[in-house]
Amino acid sequence: MKPKQEITYEPYWWLHAKPFPIQERDWQSNADVVVVGSGYTGLSAALTLLYANLKVVIIDSEMPGYGASSRNGGITSGKIKPSFKVLKKRFGLDLAKRLIEEGTTARNDLYNFIKNENIECDFENNGMLVGATSQKAFDKQKREAEELFESVGSKTDIVEKKDIQSFINSPKYIGGNFDKDIGSIHPAKLVSSMTKLVSEKNGFVYSKAKFLGAEKQNNLFKVSTERGTIIAKHLIMATNAYTDKNIPWLRKRLVPVISEMIATDSIGENRVKSLMPKLSTFGEALNVFYYFRPSPDRTRILIGGRRVRFGNENRSYKLNNGLLGIFPDLKGTSISNHWHGYVTFPLDQLPKLVMHDGIIHAAGYCGSGTVWARWMGKKAAEIILNLESKSAFYNIPFKKIPFYNGHPWFLPVAIEYYKLQDWWVNSKEG
Ligand SMILES: Cc1cc2nc3c(=O)[nH]c(=O)nc-3n(C[C@H](O)[C@H](O)[C@H](O)COP(=O)(O)OP(=O)(O)OC[C@H]3O[C@@H](n4cnc5c(N)ncnc54)[C@H](O)[C@@H]3O)c2cc1C
Repeated sequence: MKPKQEITYEPYWWLHAKPFPIQERDWQSNADVVVVGSGYTGLSAALTLLYANLKVVIIDSEMPGYGASSRNGGITSGKIKPSFKVLKKRFGLDLAKRLIEEGTTARNDLYNFIKNENIECDFENNGMLVGATSQKAFDKQKREAEELFESVGSKTDIVEKKDIQSFINSPKYIGGNFDKDIGSIHPAKLVSSMTKLVSEKNGFVYSKAKFLGAEKQNNLFKVSTERGTIIAKHLIMATNAYTDKNIPWLRKRLVPVISEMIATDSIGENRVKSLMPKLSTFGEALNVFYYFRPSPDRTRILIGGRRVRFGNENRSYKLNNGLLGIFPDLKGTSISNHWHGYVTFPLDQLPKLVMHDGIIHAAGYCGSGTVWARWMGKKAAEIILNLESKSAFYNIPFKKIPFYNGHPWFLPVAIEYYKLQDWWVNSKEG
């Protein structure tokens, strides 16, 4: 019998691309732009500015890519949380359409970036099926897909129950919506390739250089960090869910949530294919849902979900249970890795790009940052470059969350409420 392997509490992705401190050059005390945070947002902003020959310094309190960018599921969704109906009600038809369309543009822009810069990140255009667990959820998916096709021309495929087995071998779903344009990447390879590119293009990247604060002096920013000060013309905040107390304006507007994943041990490509015949990526039409995919080498399954906090229970138990709820046949399969990171939500659940006190903030991707973070970083840089190509999201109000200073005391209640809604919809149908 094969001995049971120990679980590694580090991202599976780090086996191939662990965040590393890059060879640093001398500390720079001035720059055109300082970017705080070196995930997809910060690196993408830096690259856009470097292509325009600006002097850019990126500082991170950890190593480049240490945040969510090297830990995520790698599903290139580019979707936004609010439904088209909600967007229309809030912003009117025209802006609602532009917000949705920007997701498609942003996703294609990521694919072009990977292709044009020869980024090695195991990109696959393998599509995403969002499975429905109740008739009510499935009907809602159908209505939303129809409306999006009529208004925006975005085409997805409704998968009826009889056809679901050609996408997934699971008793959990009664239908779903398949988007062939969504794909997958190796997230840590993407962020490490972006870091190398920034460095090659003469960007200055400093690890262990926590941002401590900034003051405006004669139209310049005096940026204080743990390693020294930098005088800069522009400042971009790209700290997303890892935003700490040194950035209070942003912190009071974002709710960080734990997103955690497990990877199974290798079960072999044939077994993975028997469970996921198209080797695509997956989500669920629920408030509190699982997302999952095959590993790039197609021999493992990686699954993730949200969590309020870690208790004393076996840490991998919940996700393993979720996995078995989808693929009961995997009972007895061992887990190789279990890890977590943070995603973050603004009050209105829309990606944010705003200027406040002259500082540009890009954040709040609601767990869909492989596309949005890279895009908003680029759009943040384009504001500095004074380009016409403004994002439709630019300066949509970014409201402070009432009675909140960065500690999400209300999360356990909010998540239980969302779970209860999911349970109610599912249980009514027996
Ligand atoms: C487990 C998990 C699964 C996910 N799955 C998906 C998925 O499948 N698809 C998808 O689209 N998205 C997914 N996401 C979300 C996605 O990873 C993020 O939205 C995206 O990586 C955010 O990138 P970022 O550059 O804005 O932030 P990050 O990559 O988190 O980088 C922020 C950086 O800011 C730094 N920082 C914070 N404070 C300071 C300071 N004071 N000074 C200096 N530096 C500071 C941090 O050290 C960090 O390196 C997932 C996230 C997680 C955690």
